[in-house]
Amino acid sequence: MAKRILIIGGGVSGCYLAAIFAERGTEVTLVERAGHLGGRAAVLQEPQTGDLLELGPHLLMGCYSSFRRFADKIGGTERLRFQNDLSMSFRVSSERTWRFACPRFPAPLHVAAALMRFSRLSVWDRLSGLRIGPELLRRKWFGADPLDSETAWVWLRRCGQTPEICRTLWQPLCEAALNLPLEKGSAKLMANVLVEAFCRSCADSSLGWVTGGTGSLCDTDARQFIESHGGRVLTRVNVESLRSGNEQVTGAVLSTGQRIEANAVVSTIAPWDLLALLKRSDLSRSPPVENIRRFEPSPILTLNLWLDCEITDEHFIHLESRRFQWLFDNRKHLGATPSMSPPRLGEKSGGCYSLLISGPSVLNECSKEELVRLAMEDVRGLFPMTRSARVLKASVSRQRRATYAPYPNMEPFRPEPGQWLKGLYLAGDWTATGLPCTLESGCRSVEMSAKRVMLQGTL
Ligand SMILES: Cc1cc2nc3c(=O)[nH]c(=O)nc-3n(C[C@H](O)[C@H](O)[C@H](O)COP(=O)(O)OP(=O)(O)OC[C@H]3O[C@@H](n4cnc5c(N)ncnc54)[C@H](O)[C@@H]3O)c2cc1C
Repeated sequence: MAKRILIIGGGVSGCYLAAIFAERGTEVTLVERAGHLGGRAAVLQEPQTGDLLELGPHLLMGCYSSFRRFADKIGGTERLRFQNDLSMSFRVSSERTWRFACPRFPAPLHVAAALMRFSRLSVWDRLSGLRIGPELLRRKWFGADPLDSETAWVWLRRCGQTPEICRTLWQPLCEAALNLPLEKGSAKLMANVLVEAFCRSCADSSLGWVTGGTGSLCDTDARQFIESHGGRVLTRVNVESLRSGNEQVTGAVLSTGQRIEANAVVSTIAPWDLLALLKRSDLSRSPPVENIRRFEPSPILTLNLWLDCEITDEHFIHLESRRFQWLFDNRKHLGATPSMSPPRLGEKSGGCYSLLISGPSVLNECSKEELVRLAMEDVRGLFPMTRSARVLKASVSRQRRATYAPYPNMEPFRPEPGQWLKGLYLAGDWTATGLPCTLESGCRSVEMSAKRVMLQGTL
């Protein structure tokens, strides 16, 4: 008889895991409480305009090797788009956009060359930037001291980085990757991101995105792959509780009342959802549960704006020293997919943009009207052609639990992907992958967890 796996959560991690086991001929059931797959990477269609909106516009990096294997497995590779070489734009004033652009040199010389040409910074600041190279190479080749108790700020300053390069270059990167400012984020995770992105190959540093959105990759390509390999995908169904016997998790009870038995149950859900599930299952007194209580969420706020004019030609741009940190042109970012209708409102002359604030910010508590006012102040201050722009429509997405907050000293509490309680396995972006909460961390956790499930002979 085929062995059974029950996967809780239909985000990127759950979809990848389901695809791996469905392809192996395991009897897969994937359960997702939302009406669609994709989880925190979900993509929605705005009903009035037809525009696609990601819960937060997602960027990939060339070094996302596990995520690329996921896309490859489900036949979605042609949806991935990558820059030829890393190029990042910084809008600093109404007149000036600076570009951090890497030439095609062997890594990490490509970043060193980009830094030397980045005249947004003084020569002194740029030279300080070079001093991080030896430290990153040392970490790449020999591994290095754990750094886990330091903040990224303290570590970068210790590596000779000036306050100006930290503020201009490393801060946006830290906010994008760790969802925390340098003064709060873990040095270890920041260092791991820099090594993976900048020290391996030129292609690893380039930025990418998924046309149609990452969520759509899950909800169409992954769903089709899983189902065509005999897997079952249940959406709008909650896993209410886990079933256990003889100190082993053996299955789950669903919100439909159905009971599912499985040889392995894998949770890919966020730590706070897992805690709630364990509580409902009367398992919250198990010893490793204490560690999960330590995970605090960190928010991301996305304001979607429809204007009657275009703001910029850039696909995405960092807004320096403004309240909103990033601006994405949604129509460029997501494009249109054959299954979705094209944008209607403001289609000819206007645009649909997403402005992001990563991490804790007082603006997370502002009303939509206030956010629009503040965003337009930022936009008008930086892009003169929008001074008379009209806002046609706006919507806000507040992801209060966008990621866990990767403060220093949190790494020892991240559980290893794999068996966690007898019969219950963990995967998901917050498990111990050495990376911050990203699509790549989710996919890497899946590969680690799947290997352990297979090695233990459970499936
Ligand atoms: C606004 C925003 C912007 C981001 N930007 C980027 C980016 O640019 N690049 C990047 O790499 N990453 C980014 N991320 C992070 C990325 O989205 C996540 O790392 C990734 O989506 C996590 O996938 P996952 O499958 O591990 O978890 P999730 O996506 O959280 O999936 C877990 C799923 O489990 C479901 N679930 C929970 N409890 C139950 C239950 N009891 N029963 C059934 N289902 C349940 C949830 O509904 C959810 O769908 C961003 C995240 C946010 C929120």
